[in-house]
Amino acid sequence: MTDCVFCKIVAGEIPSSRVAETDRLFAFRDIQPHAPTHVLLIPKEHVADSAADLGPDDAGWLAELMGLAATIAKDEGLEAGWRIVTNVGPAAGQTVFHVHFHLMGGWTDR
Ligand code: AMP
Ligand code: ZN
Repeated sequence: MTDCVFCKIVAGEIPSSRVAETDRLFAFRDIQPHAPTHVLLIPKEHVADSAADLGPDDAGWLAELMGLAATIAKDEGLEAGWRIVTNVGPAAGQTVFHVHFHLMGGWTDR
């Protein structure tokens, strides 16, 4: 998608702080973190605007994404606790319409 900020990040047209990458997935640091560690995981291809558009055909990359999230959580030292969030629609706070998952952790005060 030509006007999608995350497609531009994958294409290298917008700089990002890359955390991990596979053939299908890209992970990078959120520019406005809501946790001490806040990483976004996305499919490189613009396969859906949000999780509302996902179905059985997406099982492969979704499973890979969950595994990558667990690997990143270990690498980032988040063993004490982390969460995965995906916002669907403006009412839930979605601002970028390229399906993505927030990996957050690193709190020391809870
Ligand atoms: P959401 O609100 O669920 O759509 O999440 C979009 C996230 O993308 C927000 O947390 C933003 O801070 C983040 N974001 C937007 N633009 C960039 C960017 N260029 N690099 C890194 N993160 C970004
Ligand atoms: Zn996109």
